[in-house]
Amino acid sequence: KKYVYAFAEGNKELKDLLGGKGANLAEMTNLGLPVPPGFTITTEACTTYLNTGSTPEGLDEEVATHLAALEKARGKKLGDPDDPLLVSVRSGAKFSMPGMMETVLNVGLNDQSVEGLARQADNDRFAWDSYRRLIQMFGKTVQNIEGEAFEEALEEIKRAKDTHNDLDLDADDLRQLVDVYKGIVREHTGADFPQDPREQLTAAINAVFDSWNSDRAVLYRRQERIPADLGTAVNVVAMVFGNMGMDSGTGVAFTRDPGTGEQGVYGDYLQNAQGEDVVAGIRNTVPLQDLEKLDKTSYDRLMEIMATLEGHYRDLCDIEFTIEAGQLWMLQTRVGKRTAAAAFRIASQLVDEGVIDLDEAVQRVTGEQLVHLMFPQFDTSAKVHQLGRGISASPGAAVGKAVFDSYTAVKWSRSGEKVILVRRETNPDDLNGMIAAQGILTSRGGKTSHAAVVARGMGKTCVCGVEELQVNTKRRFLTAPDGTEVHEGDVISIDGSTGRVYLGEVPVVDSPVVEYFEGQVDVSTAKDDLVSAVHRIMTHADSARRMGVRANADTAEDAERARRFGAEGIGLCRTEHMFLGERRQHVERLILAEDDEQRDQALEALLPLQRWDFLQLLTAMDGLPTTIRLLDPPLHEFLPDITELSVRVALAESRGEKNENDLRLMQAVHRLHEQNPMLGLRGVRLGLVVPGLFNLQTRSIAEAAAQLVKLGKDPRPEIMIPLVGSVQELEIIRGETEQVLKEVAEETGCDLPIMIGTMIELPRAALTADQIAEAAQFFSFGTNDLTQTTWGFSRDDVEAAFFSTYLEVGIFGVSPFETIDEDGVGELVRIGTEKGRATRPDLKVGVCGEHGGDPDSVHFFNKVGLDYVSCSPFRVPVARLEAARATV
Ligand code: ADP
Ligand code: MG
Ligand code: MG
Repeated sequence: KKYVYAFAEGNKELKDLLGGKGANLAEMTNLGLPVPPGFTITTEACTTYLNTGSTPEGLDEEVATHLAALEKARGKKLGDPDDPLLVSVRSGAKFSMPGMMETVLNVGLNDQSVEGLARQADNDRFAWDSYRRLIQMFGKTVQNIEGEAFEEALEEIKRAKDTHNDLDLDADDLRQLVDVYKGIVREHTGADFPQDPREQLTAAINAVFDSWNSDRAVLYRRQERIPADLGTAVNVVAMVFGNMGMDSGTGVAFTRDPGTGEQGVYGDYLQNAQGEDVVAGIRNTVPLQDLEKLDKTSYDRLMEIMATLEGHYRDLCDIEFTIEAGQLWMLQTRVGKRTAAAAFRIASQLVDEGVIDLDEAVQRVTGEQLVHLMFPQFDTSAKVHQLGRGISASPGAAVGKAVFDSYTAVKWSRSGEKVILVRRETNPDDLNGMIAAQGILTSRGGKTSHAAVVARGMGKTCVCGVEELQVNTKRRFLTAPDGTEVHEGDVISIDGSTGRVYLGEVPVVDSPVVEYFEGQVDVSTAKDDLVSAVHRIMTHADSARRMGVRANADTAEDAERARRFGAEGIGLCRTEHMFLGERRQHVERLILAEDDEQRDQALEALLPLQRWDFLQLLTAMDGLPTTIRLLDPPLHEFLPDITELSVRVALAESRGEKNENDLRLMQAVHRLHEQNPMLGLRGVRLGLVVPGLFNLQTRSIAEAAAQLVKLGKDPRPEIMIPLVGSVQELEIIRGETEQVLKEVAEETGCDLPIMIGTMIELPRAALTADQIAEAAQFFSFGTNDLTQTTWGFSRDDVEAAFFSTYLEVGIFGVSPFETIDEDGVGELVRIGTEKGRATRPDLKVGVCGEHGGDPDSVHFFNKVGLDYVSCSPFRVPVARLEAARATV
């Protein structure tokens, strides 16, 4: 097995094996760009090392061979006392994990070779500066010495010279610093700084391997959902020196503005510096444009290279470079990170420039980015006081008074206050407070912490893990690093999209993208190029996708909004709200009815009310399919609360009164009480047990439709029976439903074809879908219930209780209620679809759980061949985009 690749042997497709950095260094090398020679040790070597505790057999020899080639290329030997070759040892995983892992520069220097380096370069200062950097980085990374020990020593020596500028330190100072550093190493390790260059190299390589499992790397991976078993590659690169003098330096650059996408010169440059200096803020950097004045040749060459990279990667690239005595070297490139807005703008600009086509533009943006753009945003032009920054756990912009416990959150919000719940971390006891709050802020925990998981489940804004904030819940205040204190009742603003926390009320502006979807922006004259970019990409997405996108909407108002957002129908109209409010009294009468007559009276009272609802809804959805689900929840949800009722009865009793109706209601509530309502009398079971209930709904729908047809409209209702587990259930209900439809057709003279289908939300339904399809004209997977019934999870109970633990220990990487569990629940979807279509090849199959608006799930549904997804109106654009991304 081959564990080491020279740069010339790799390419950018080999990220799994060579890591992102290594793969791109190889790519640049093969493009003929000036990359210092080097080689990459594969991620496989790393995983073997981490799993077995020792490096794989043959690795040492391979490294030796490649090192020899490197020495030959540079005409120097590693650590040669007279003219040393120095190398950097750099981590580089498949996914970039900024600042998470380690790099050691100037490996190969020791007490002798530092003198050789000084003589060769004729520059003592440079040599000793390099040596002190090696000891500092090696001490910290390889020998696990607190970085502060070195930093303090450096500060000390600057203080002695009365300067803040490291350039004021001369060769003698640095030589002295090296002595101090060596003392620190001796003190911490009990041994001298290793002088053998080869020993330095091996130790540095192993330290980079080990850094894969450092605490912060582990934490970061969990938050970013990067698999823990990928390992990191190690890049060994011949050093080039930006610290040789003022004609040297180091810099970073972007090929376009990562904020707006505009092409141009963006970056920072620092003269006479090495490595991270440019981003570490040790001295003021100069804007990249100024390099033109400092070193025109290198500047022109850099511009040329940036154009080459853009042309080659066909996207925004970010770059690290170093100039050694007027000679430009490329040290890193990758397709650069960008904001959500920039992603849309850049994709559209690249189309304008003829670099990519629209199909590719659709791939260059994500539904997740679109979600971010759709939330209301803080007005960034406002003057703000930032208190800190944490992890963006659940998007949105929330403003409210800080409260430090759930009880206060609930109490204050009841009295009409907007509150932000601030905790160190949350636990299930905080649930009520989280529900009451506008947003949640914690100082501990990452994207899988309790606060994050629950907030996302509720669609509530959440910033978590703002470690720089000291939260004192006992004394009800928090302290920011700048000393600002926020006490209970002080207003704060939290941005769940960026993780930023502000003091006071930051003004919130509507998202221009939502205004566009709402039809409030005329695209042809839109000033905001973001809106034009979104319009262009969404228009293409709609023409490219195979799956349809519908919305879950219960009212005409929601339906209209869903249409504006691009829904091509309603995939789920819940009808429970049609039994609430003033209509409860009729439902109560229905439940309490003692004979057919009483029952029919109650049903008759409900009929015109529901017909009116459906008239509204079908008018809003004129010309588009509208799937209406018959009543699903358990009946007792429509009865009064047992405690309230008991109090009422007791009060009446104490007055010596007796309310017959209340007493009968009490009995009914007790009779209908269920231990597990989720698995109780609901869905199709109601239709079978409560005579006339489903027929009432069917009749309302059919009469409303007939009325609209007479008005020249085009209503397209579809009737959906929930919670079916066996074809027999469906057959009975279908028979009755068809009977009612026939009656209405005869009465109205309007024979509208209305499809009758079912939800698949029980494992048994999926497994017997071939039978069920005999009686169903369409399927809609109710993946929320299907997830509950497949896992045996009661969503209302499990999310707050233990999901964060499950996520932390890795039982799943993401909540199965957020993203479809492909292996289990998804498998049932696949089986159900296949079996259903085996019986009825033209069976229409959709999904109407919340998963219909989740990017990963949408890709899965596309793969298993569903006809459409249905999701909340707000998610419709996300589903449109992701359905296209799954196709092109
Ligand atoms: P990170 O992954 O944190 O960016 P890098 O491996 O890129 O870490 O290295 C850290 C710094 O050291 C960067 O500024 C990089 O440009 C610089 N560097 C790495 N290797 C060399 C080298 N061979 N010569 C000069 N500078 C280098
Ligand atoms: Mg780097
Ligand atoms: Mg359901």
